[in-house]
Amino acid sequence: MSLLEEWLSPFATVNTGFREPNEYILQYSDSPQPQQCVISGGRVESYLTSQTRAVLNVIFDRGAYLPDLGLWLDSRRKRSVGYISHAHMDHVARHQRPILTSGTRVLLKTLLQRSDPCTLEYGETYDTANYSLTLYPAGHCLGSAQVLVRSKVSGQRVLYTGDFKVRPNPTAEPLQSVSCDTLIIESTFGRPEYCFPPQEEVLDSFFETLRGWLNRGETPVVLAYRMGKSQELLHHLLSQGFEVALEESAYVVTQSYQEAGVEFPGPFRSFDGTFREGEVLLFPPGKGTRAALERLKGRRMVAMSGWAVHNGARYRLGVDEAFPFSDHADYSELVDYVKLVNPKQVYTINGFPDLASHLKAQGYQAEHLKSGQASVQLKLL
Ligand SMILES: [Zn+2]
Repeated sequence: MSLLEEWLSPFATVNTGFREPNEYILQYSDSPQPQQCVISGGRVESYLTSQTRAVLNVIFDRGAYLPDLGLWLDSRRKRSVGYISHAHMDHVARHQRPILTSGTRVLLKTLLQRSDPCTLEYGETYDTANYSLTLYPAGHCLGSAQVLVRSKVSGQRVLYTGDFKVRPNPTAEPLQSVSCDTLIIESTFGRPEYCFPPQEEVLDSFFETLRGWLNRGETPVVLAYRMGKSQELLHHLLSQGFEVALEESAYVVTQSYQEAGVEFPGPFRSFDGTFREGEVLLFPPGKGTRAALERLKGRRMVAMSGWAVHNGARYRLGVDEAFPFSDHADYSELVDYVKLVNPKQVYTINGFPDLASHLKAQGYQAEHLKSGQASVQLKLL
């Protein structure tokens, strides 16, 4: 029997794991929950039960799961109860009882026809026996929300950002920072090369390019995802006096935005296959778009994407111009947000692991969770 086993035997351990030099995870034969303890000089100095330990466990597997609370966040699989941060399809499933904002509910009304949604406004709290959760704006698109989950047993607070945008977005409530103990943050642009220029500069160059094309009698086609970025760019274009026609599915989404109370600073129309001189076309990227626009004479394409920070983006995206415009936070904004929220533990998901490495070097407890991966405590069991 090793010295460690000797130390642990009085505690009827059936499972052990190693965390920090003096910190172990063990499971008592009479307890269903694993326990964390600190051992020093052959004695258990203190132990942290699942009720009192500093951070809640997190599993990331096509969505984030908080096993201590039995709560799924943005699960891609159908759950009995599931929080949906926003209406992009990589965050959505047909949960029996989805928890979401009224804006997200409007955008998902067809998909969630057979669900029994729990709709919350920003700042409103949903209570269960184990936890309460409160939604805060994420600035990403209509209805996008961060969720603060508070364990009623330990008082620990987990903030899950979902996708978020720091820069102004005229079609979404501005991001609100929320302090927490554990932060689960997206890291889509979690690499130092993804630092975007100031948004106003990017938009000015974009408008100038469009005006140049229109003055030469060419037809500008702006490529942007049908939900979120299309409406954001539509708002900017209309406020600059551009005439805009949207691809039909993006137009339908824009009507939902209007239904949810978003106002646009001018008229616009659904593209019916005929181009009117002086118009800018807004289209989602994809094969269908290229086919639909094949016969359009004098077509000039521009992509609006965070990936456009790379010099070769125009060639890779197959467009005439590309501007680094995103509905996500850039690298420096992600780092700044972590500093602002000041968590004890950070988990990065949905992007580059570099952000977690940088945060670790800055002294944060940080870990990147890949799909199918659990947080440190659970991995050891
Ligand atoms: Zn999104």
